[in-house]
Amino acid sequence: MQQTNQPQKTQAIGLMGGTFDPIHLGHMRLAWEASTLLGLTKMEIMPCHLPPHRDAPSSDATHRIKMARLACAETPSFHVNDWEIEKHSASYTVETLQYMRDQASSETPLIFVMGMDAFRLFCRWHRWQDILNLCHLWVAHRPGSTPPETQSDEYALLKRSRAEHPHDLLSSAAGNIHVHNTTALDISATQLREDIQQGFEPRFLLPDTVWHYIKLHQLYGW
Ligand code: ATP
Repeated sequence: MQQTNQPQKTQAIGLMGGTFDPIHLGHMRLAWEASTLLGLTKMEIMPCHLPPHRDAPSSDATHRIKMARLACAETPSFHVNDWEIEKHSASYTVETLQYMRDQASSETPLIFVMGMDAFRLFCRWHRWQDILNLCHLWVAHRPGSTPPETQSDEYALLKRSRAEHPHDLLSSAAGNIHVHNTTALDISATQLREDIQQGFEPRFLLPDTVWHYIKLHQLYGW
């Protein structure tokens, strides 16, 4: 983790979306490093609605929310937000961010946190230009994911909007992208689901409370 002086607490709000199927320590560490380096008092963890035809085995929204709540229980600044799930239909990220912006003041920095694998496809997202009018991006390097290729739209976007220092994201409400050398944790939910289905215990890759929940409810074919 890049060492910096602990920043002052700010009113800035973090948001991390994802399937969280299940939530794991790669997610938690990413949210934690962004939160601590930016001095965030609020990091919203927002599981998305999943289409019913998604590849099995996967768990329904109630389980994904409950596992996320267990994972975040000991971290007061982390809050699991069920807004996308409660809509009962898929949400575009731009709509979620508009909702978040409507809850905050127009000056509050809003920071959308994602891994490099997600950022590499960012310019294919619905109304991606509008997303950058609503929030900053915090992009974490992720094992197995390289930065965008030089010919890509994402590369050009990064060149235009890059913020070298995390604190640069706190001086405006939206529009910049910080790429961070987050502690490399080669953990993916897909791999976890496969391991669990094959009978391998995924301990120390996700919080113990989440693993107990998975066993109790026999999720992912356990
Ligand atoms: P799957 O393997 O099923 O695609 P996932 O592990 O990538 O799942 P998601 O819920 O899709 O989990 O990820 C939510 C966000 O967290 C995404 O922006 C993703 O890039 C990021 N992320 C997930 N795992 C890591 C990790 N190990 N390191 C850094 N970022 C991660």
